[in-house]
Amino acid sequence: MTEKLIYELSRPGRCACFLPKTDVPPADLPSEWVREEAPLLPEVSEVDLVRHYVRLSQLNYGVDTGFYPLGSCTMKYNPKVNEEACRLPGFAQTHPLQPEDTVQGNLKLMYDLQCYLREISGFAAVSLQPAAGAHGEFAGILIMRAYHLDRGDTGRSRILIPDSAHGTNPASTTMSGLEVVQLRSDSRGNVDLDDLRANLDDRVIGMMLTNPNTLGLFDEHLEEVARLVHGAGGLMYGDGANLNALMGIAKPAALGFDVMHFNLHKTFSTPHGGGGPGSGPVGVTEELARFLPGPVVIRTLDEEACTCGPDDEHDEFCYRYELSQPGSSIGRLKAFYGNFGVMVRAYTYIRMLGGAGLRQASEDAVLNANYLQARLKQVYPLPYDRPCMHEFVLEGRLADAPGIRALDISKRLMDYGMHPPTNYFPLIVHEALMIEPTETESKETLDAFVDAMTRIAEEARTQPELLHDAPHTTPVGRLDEVRAAREPRLRWKPPAP
Ligand SMILES: *Cc1c(COP(=O)(O)O)cnc(C)c1O
Repeated sequence: MTEKLIYELSRPGRCACFLPKTDVPPADLPSEWVREEAPLLPEVSEVDLVRHYVRLSQLNYGVDTGFYPLGSCTMKYNPKVNEEACRLPGFAQTHPLQPEDTVQGNLKLMYDLQCYLREISGFAAVSLQPAAGAHGEFAGILIMRAYHLDRGDTGRSRILIPDSAHGTNPASTTMSGLEVVQLRSDSRGNVDLDDLRANLDDRVIGMMLTNPNTLGLFDEHLEEVARLVHGAGGLMYGDGANLNALMGIAKPAALGFDVMHFNLHKTFSTPHGGGGPGSGPVGVTEELARFLPGPVVIRTLDEEACTCGPDDEHDEFCYRYELSQPGSSIGRLKAFYGNFGVMVRAYTYIRMLGGAGLRQASEDAVLNANYLQARLKQVYPLPYDRPCMHEFVLEGRLADAPGIRALDISKRLMDYGMHPPTNYFPLIVHEALMIEPTETESKETLDAFVDAMTRIAEEARTQPELLHDAPHTTPVGRLDEVRAAREPRLRWKPPAP
């Protein structure tokens, strides 16, 4: 018996289901296809099975369990209606190889989403192809390079990136075979204009700028930055991960950007803990539209279906939707349609909120962040002390508790039942704690977070070991993250005999 007992919970003969008697004749299989022994499957009762999976689900922390102020990631509440929508059989069960005639509804949804993203951002054209923000960056950089090469300008190979940027910016640049030039930030958290001027020449493809930046600050020189970069023949790439601060308030295209990626899974709500799935559409100006990754969805008037008279306004049934490759496209970046399920969620979210609702989401996100910043700067150092946008960055250190680091504070927060903020990013802040409350949190939740952070500061002074040993209440304590990345254990293996 012990030989077969390879699952801890399994006991021979236990079963969680009753299979009906077969009502078809047994198939006559070639003998080499037939097993000699039954497969080793876990044998458990129904109650063991239910408890096993419910227990596993409770080991996870998520937006649906509690406050999740993980800066830059925009862990807003994901409305459940989005999940209902993307599981509708007409969406979920379409096959990517179906003829276009049979997926007109899906294509119309993609077309409309392209239009909404154009309206929100001010860009002339959008491609939904990229599967994540970083993928959108990669697309955007290839578009900028294609633009210069198309003009016969072959001497450009550099991308300027501020030192506050997300790590994906230099990574996407390097992956594209281009060279990263890092720019300093000034004392107010803006791009340092002198450093920008010193690095601008005819080798520059463009500049990648996150606005508001990863400090949660709106760059006060944005117009000047765009003017300088354009003056040197370069293009402005907008990292749109922080669009949650701007919806309905400012259009990135009007701020001077030529290309931008959206993070649908952040700004437009898709569950994205643990790495996916995402969607990172790119928007571009008229001038760059023909370089977009394809296919994009276009529509044409369907002469046969349209019964409108000369003065009628066309409605949705008058059009045919189809996939189309832009004229000088950088090519395809993703199989089939891209991450369609994320598009349905973003579409549903946008339709549920409408224009005024999106604007309010941004206003509330900014209000929540400023409320937290105003209260927490009484407790922890705030290196860039000016009104923030949708997030802000504290220093996780205290003058009178020298042994305490940002990591200790974050780990202790878990004992208070909250997800830690982003740690040690952006790199230009010592012991960075990057806090993004999002618009979906109530004042009570924000106050509970301030209370926890205040009590932790007190504990840091009086009982520092409590923080050093934290977390005390979670299923696992401090993990060896480097070893976990180098030697990942991705599946359960039976213990050695
Ligand atoms: C999340 C993020 C990215 C990358 O987006 P992914 O969808 O995770 O690839 C890039 N820049 C910033 C500022 C971000 O917050």
